[in-house]
Amino acid sequence: MKVLEEVKPKVATKNLLEIRNLKKYFPIKGGVIQRTTGHVKAVDDISFDIQEGETLGIVGESGSGKSTLGRVILRLLSATDGTITFDGNNLTHLKERELRNYRKDMQIIFQDPFSSLNSKMNVYELIEEALVIQTKLAKPERKKKVEAIVEKVGLRIEDLQKYPHEFSGGQRQRISIARALVNNPKFVVCDEPVSALDVSIQAQVLNLMMDLQDELGLTYLFIAHDLSVVKHISDRIIVMYLGRVAEIAPKNNLYDNPKHPYTQALLDSVSVVDRGENRVPEREKIVLKGTMPSPANPPSGCAFRTRCPFAFDRCSQERPELTEVEPGHFAACHLHTGVKDPVSKLVQYS
Ligand code: ADP
Ligand code: MG
Repeated sequence: MKVLEEVKPKVATKNLLEIRNLKKYFPIKGGVIQRTTGHVKAVDDISFDIQEGETLGIVGESGSGKSTLGRVILRLLSATDGTITFDGNNLTHLKERELRNYRKDMQIIFQDPFSSLNSKMNVYELIEEALVIQTKLAKPERKKKVEAIVEKVGLRIEDLQKYPHEFSGGQRQRISIARALVNNPKFVVCDEPVSALDVSIQAQVLNLMMDLQDELGLTYLFIAHDLSVVKHISDRIIVMYLGRVAEIAPKNNLYDNPKHPYTQALLDSVSVVDRGENRVPEREKIVLKGTMPSPANPPSGCAFRTRCPFAFDRCSQERPELTEVEPGHFAACHLHTGVKDPVSKLVQYS
C-alpha cells in the first residue's frame, strides 16, 4: 500500500475509492442456441485508488474500456471480478436495494447531453427528477436546490422552463452537470463530457467543472480519448490500452516524461502546444499505426506489442507488470521492467 500512497499528489486526505483487480468480461454469444463462444475483456485486472478531492484522468483510444470501467465502478454494470470500495464500503456485491444509499453520492455525466436528456422534460423537471428519485425532500425544498444549482452552473432561472433542444451543446452540458450535482454527490464519473463540444466551448465547460469541484469538494474520474483535454483538469492520469493500464502517473510526469510507447504515441498525436513544455527532447516521434486489436482476442504478452516500434521477443511471451519506474510513476512495458531490479520494483497492488 505504501507504493500507492506515494502516487498521490495532493495533501494527504483519504482514498474515496479503492479499485482492486477489477474485471469486466462481456460474453460473446454465437450459433443458433446462443452459446457463449468467448469474452470481450473490456476491463481486465485494473487496480488504483482515487483520493478525495482528486481528479483522475483516464485516457485511451475508443474501445479501450474507459466507459465500461466508469460504469462498473458506479455499479451501473456488474463486475466480473475484483472489488470496488467506496468511502470505506465494499459495493461490489451489494444488491440494488442496498446500493440505493450510495447512488446519490456517485453520479455520471455523459458525452452527449442531447441523448442523455429526456427531450420531453423541461430543465426544471430534468434537474428535479434526480431529487425525486434519490431523496424524500418536499417540493419547496426541491425547488430551492434546483434554483441554487442552476445558478452555480451558469444558467438563468428563466431557463428552467425551457426544453433541451432550445439550448446550445455547451448549455445542454451545463444542464447535465446541474442534474448530476443537484444532490451533492461525492464522486462524479465524467465520461467524455466535452468531446462533443466545439473546442472554444470545451474550455468554458472544463473551467466550470473545475470551479464546481473546488466549491463542492467533488472527486472526479475524468474520461477522455486524447491527452489534450485532460491536461488541465487532472491531478494524475491513467493511460488505458485494451482493458489494461499501460501507464499511471502524476500529470506533469506523464506529459513531460512518458514511459510507455503507447503514451508517447498518444502525446505525439496531439498538437505541440498541448504537450509538456519540459519533455525529454531526444525521442523519436512515434506514429500510432493500424488499429487496436479486438479485446475478444488480444495479442499474447504485451497487448500493445503489435503496434509498438520497440517490441522484442519478451513482449510476445510475457505480459509486462505495472512497474514503478520513478517515484509515483508506473508503466507496464518491458523496456522498463528490465531496466531496474524487476523483483523489488514490481507493484504490489493487492
Ligand atoms: P471506450 O469507452 O474506451 O471507448 P468501452 O468501454 O465503450 O470503451 O468498450 C470497451 C470494449 O467493450 C469494446 O470492445 C466494446 O465493444 C465492448 N463493450 C462495451 N459495452 C459492451 C456491452 N454491453 N456488450 C458487449 N461488449 C461491450
Ligand atoms: Mg467511452
